[in-house]
Amino acid sequence: AEQVPVWDPGLCSQCGKCFFVCPHAAIRPKVYNNDLLADAPDFFKHTAPIGKEFFKETESYTLQVAVEDCTGCNLCVEVCPIESKTQPGHKAINMQDVMPLKETEINNWDFFISLPDIDRTRVNRATVKGSQLLEPLFEFSGACSGCGETPYLKLLTQLFGDRMIVANATGCSSIFGGNLPTTPWSTNAEGHGPAWANSLFEDNAEFGLGIKLATDMKRSYAIALLKQLREEVGENLTESILKNVESNETEIIQQRINVTELKRILQHIDKAEAGLLYQVAEFLEHKSMWIVGGDGWAYDIGFSGLDHVLSTGENVNILVLDTEVYSNTGGQKSKSTSIGASAKFSIKGKTTGKKDLAMQAIAHGNAFVAEIAMGANDVHALKTILEAEAYPGPSIIIAYSHCIAHGYDMCHGLDQQELAVKTG
Ligand code: SF4
Ligand code: SF4
Ligand code: SF4
Repeated sequence: AEQVPVWDPGLCSQCGKCFFVCPHAAIRPKVYNNDLLADAPDFFKHTAPIGKEFFKETESYTLQVAVEDCTGCNLCVEVCPIESKTQPGHKAINMQDVMPLKETEINNWDFFISLPDIDRTRVNRATVKGSQLLEPLFEFSGACSGCGETPYLKLLTQLFGDRMIVANATGCSSIFGGNLPTTPWSTNAEGHGPAWANSLFEDNAEFGLGIKLATDMKRSYAIALLKQLREEVGENLTESILKNVESNETEIIQQRINVTELKRILQHIDKAEAGLLYQVAEFLEHKSMWIVGGDGWAYDIGFSGLDHVLSTGENVNILVLDTEVYSNTGGQKSKSTSIGASAKFSIKGKTTGKKDLAMQAIAHGNAFVAEIAMGANDVHALKTILEAEAYPGPSIIIAYSHCIAHGYDMCHGLDQQELAVKTG
């Protein structure tokens, strides 16, 4: 990018909104121990963290931009709510020419990324601010500058981390999600990340359902084997694993510790069942199953499969990245395109209305159904995703996403989302 955002620590309220909307995960906050600043580059910016959950005396907060990966889309500056009272137009982040900053900021980013991520049990992930302190495992994708789809995917990885399994329909999200040999789906410090796979356009819901059923089968098998080995493994560890419902980060982390200990013990048990359990022990940890695709998949080409998956009552989460056109192929109309909208194949305006996919999903009577638009209401989008994942049955979230195919300057994408919601 020719211009990149520059942070003003004196103005920033540390709300996290800028990172929430960044399509490329190129601006990030961290809270860390002051001792780590001993090795910081000379011009590394930091300030005291705001919020009662942090230690102001011993911890620091930094908002850092990856200047080599920022696309200059301006969305972060547009969404920043803090403006100087004495300097009209000056916000807590402001776009500046990259060239004079580049060398310094590359050094700063390298140092920033070496800092540890915050303990996941310390933040409230149900707030925009808290969720944005969680490490993203979807970053620097090849999506268009300002893309409205990628922030939702980034948010999923922050909330559900390396427990995620993603079945991705063909479309923009499979292209920017899998332009191999690179991939934006990344790993954490332990080398773990979301598992991701792409099937066809027409069968992605069934593909995801199959993965879910196979995962459940392996989990049942692991539980049965663990019960058989109760005596050798030990009563306490067996019960701790079987009774842990992993309803919060503390329980999720404890389950991983227990399964790691289980695998250590299994290596010393001279029974065939121990070897079998070792192979499937990781399925004793709860997986977060996501079936992802665009409106071309969900409303049109993959709809019958999606309808079938909803009817099964299985505990899967479906995320529809709804740009209201076939984005990847250049903006052709889909059944999600609104009446009157000009898209390819309906250049004079679509003559029929947008299909109400949410009402069709509601008709099943067993699904969690929601529509979100992070540009219109970020808190609603965040809480809806958390509720959908927690719902013990099928959930479908239709996430309105601005897109380059809509024909406006992408820096106004979030405003367009708000207008889309206000106009129904
Ligand atoms: S300008 Fe765009 S890509 Fe760069 S940090 Fe801001 S939101 Fe992210
Ligand atoms: S949106 Fe503005 S105030 Fe909020 S964290 Fe980003 S720079 Fe700071
Ligand atoms: S075409 Fe639209 S949905 Fe696809 S990457 Fe570009 S902005 Fe995102």
